[in-house]
Amino acid sequence: MSVLTVGEAQIHRVEELRIPNTIAYFTEDEDLLAANRHWLAPHFLDENDSFDLVFQSWIFEADDRVVLVDPCTGNGKPHPVPFFDNLEVPFIERMSETGYRPEDIDLVVCSHLHHDHCGWNTQLRDGKWMPTFPNARYIMRRSEFERWGPQRDRHPVFDYNESVFERSVQPVVDAGLAELVSGSHRLTAGIVVEPAPGHTLGHQMLHLVSGGQHAFFTGDCFHHPIQLVEPAIPFGDAEDLEQAIAMRRKLVELSADNGALLIAAHLPAPYAVRARREGGDLHLAAAGTQEDLK
Ligand SMILES: [Zn+2]
Repeated sequence: MSVLTVGEAQIHRVEELRIPNTIAYFTEDEDLLAANRHWLAPHFLDENDSFDLVFQSWIFEADDRVVLVDPCTGNGKPHPVPFFDNLEVPFIERMSETGYRPEDIDLVVCSHLHHDHCGWNTQLRDGKWMPTFPNARYIMRRSEFERWGPQRDRHPVFDYNESVFERSVQPVVDAGLAELVSGSHRLTAGIVVEPAPGHTLGHQMLHLVSGGQHAFFTGDCFHHPIQLVEPAIPFGDAEDLEQAIAMRRKLVELSADNGALLIAAHLPAPYAVRARREGGDLHLAAAGTQEDLK
């Protein structure tokens, strides 16, 4: 069952993990929370000021292509954070509930190359990391690829992403399935990947237009919607905080311009946020199915 609709496109999700989280990790500004509770509650902020940080992939069909966005952490991959270490999650089984099998996927889009956005790129088969989606083109941003790959000597390498490139990216390249893009890159009539730097320097987002409706799959541009109200609230290590702040401001404007859904990687139900202009003011609201908005 789909969780969001964008024109003709039904957006499905496949959950890998969820981590209960508290808003205190983002802000302890009681006035700010009070002013936004009316649209954040109950899903993005419950009565205990908590919410779930969800690790999930999005799947949709548009322009005769089946697209999977942000393939989570993957199974059997060592990670210094126990929560992600050597997962054994029935992700592919859960995916089959959406009606799609790995071989049905035409395009895999990684917003960036942190472990939780490219992990299911590969699976261990006979002791080798092999592409999970054998018929897909894997769309990655060239600058992001170089930051974690061949040219990474120029950049700090973090424990949490150690060997992610070797396990989850290089095997896709070796299989001839990687497509490195730059700038604003059109994949189909209604699907464009665009630079969305900040969280990582080579972070990208996917812009879907279907039936005159718009959505942006925004990866880790923001982790909680409160960051769209106060873009300077940090979470996770933005590689460039100034760019991350500018990007969050831009997303709110983009959404207000055409009613676009902002579908972030880690949002819980109802999974999306939408902005609108009223007079000179920008207002944000949770967006999703009636069922999920209850
Ligand atoms: Zn993430």
